[in-house]
Amino acid sequence: MTIPFIDLKSQYRRLQSEINTRIQGVLDHGAYVMGPEVADLESRLADYCNVRHAITCSSGTDALLLGLMAHDVRPGDAIFTSPFTFFATAEAIALLGATPVFVDIDPSTFNMDPDRLSEAVGRIKSQNGLSAKGIMPVGLFGLPPDFGAIDEIARDHGLFTLEDAAQSFGGEYGGRISGSLGDIGATSFFPAKPLGCYGDGGAAFTDDDELANRMKSIRIHGMGSDKYDNVRIGLNARMDTIQAAVLIAKLGIFQEEVRMRQRVAQRYAEALEGLVETPSVPEGYQSVWAQYSILSDHRDNLQASLKEQGIPCAVYYRIPCHLSEAFRHLGYREGDMPVSEAAAKRIFSLPMHPYIEDALIDRIAGIIRSSLCKT
Ligand SMILES: *Cc1c(COP(=O)(O)O)cnc(C)c1O
Repeated sequence: MTIPFIDLKSQYRRLQSEINTRIQGVLDHGAYVMGPEVADLESRLADYCNVRHAITCSSGTDALLLGLMAHDVRPGDAIFTSPFTFFATAEAIALLGATPVFVDIDPSTFNMDPDRLSEAVGRIKSQNGLSAKGIMPVGLFGLPPDFGAIDEIARDHGLFTLEDAAQSFGGEYGGRISGSLGDIGATSFFPAKPLGCYGDGGAAFTDDDELANRMKSIRIHGMGSDKYDNVRIGLNARMDTIQAAVLIAKLGIFQEEVRMRQRVAQRYAEALEGLVETPSVPEGYQSVWAQYSILSDHRDNLQASLKEQGIPCAVYYRIPCHLSEAFRHLGYREGDMPVSEAAAKRIFSLPMHPYIEDALIDRIAGIIRSSLCKT
């Protein structure tokens, strides 16, 4: 039996009859697009993260786009974000013709370092050319960003905050759910995310009625009173009703799964102590452990040993965004984001999902231990 990096089948077996019934319900009523399950899911999501509005959409990338477009982001705007993230974060900024300004990370959290953010905002403000517009912090690997410090900088400089909670939705910061921290939060329901559907999906969250109305309009071709009354340029960014039905079933056990993930992370931390650098969670935070990412100088050897024993692992992220080919025109060079670049050389992620058994974790730690002995 192959060991999955993220096991979605155990969860499906557990929810099979509810998921099948809910999908059948959509097939029976036939409202495949913007059917009743969509509004039902949105109200459950808004309750879950204690915000006024949850707006579902077609992907996490589109949720970021909805958030940026609701803030009228355009060419000439500078948006501050992390270089150590999935490409979609910075891609959404660039798609609107705006400029991502990368801010290096804190080595202990892998999230945007607020001190570096202050410097970057000061730098942009003292240049003419770009105008500082917003901040997009990312909750990497499931750990929410340092939102208190980031929000203070945003307020001082009149910048919006758009939280990329694609990995951290379900994590907590100061008792608040990640996704509800910024003016707008965005998450992804891609199958491998902590809360995933069976295709692409996403959602944006906000307490602001005006931003919510704009995102609802942009989601359906900039609609006004109906979709043939177009008041702005928008997208086709709706969530499929079938995906909403799947998510309603999965949301019902999500809180329990978040607790199960804590147990898995705890077990990894104990089993790997002294072998590799394990992730830490600062006081006042809860991670949802989208990934369990560790650091080692012997990454390539460890990965090879694990693969040999049938244990899948992955590297997130080998190329920080500021060094990607797609952003070459921005002129960043090796050495500009030293913390991200150092992490990219040593990091890798182990299998992580709520249903991992202790025995597997111990086996993984054993393989790592004996591989390190040989090096
Ligand atoms: C997955 C992810 C996205 C994009 O979500 P999609 O649903 O795949 O479009 C954006 N940002 C981060 C940090 C992600 O991990």
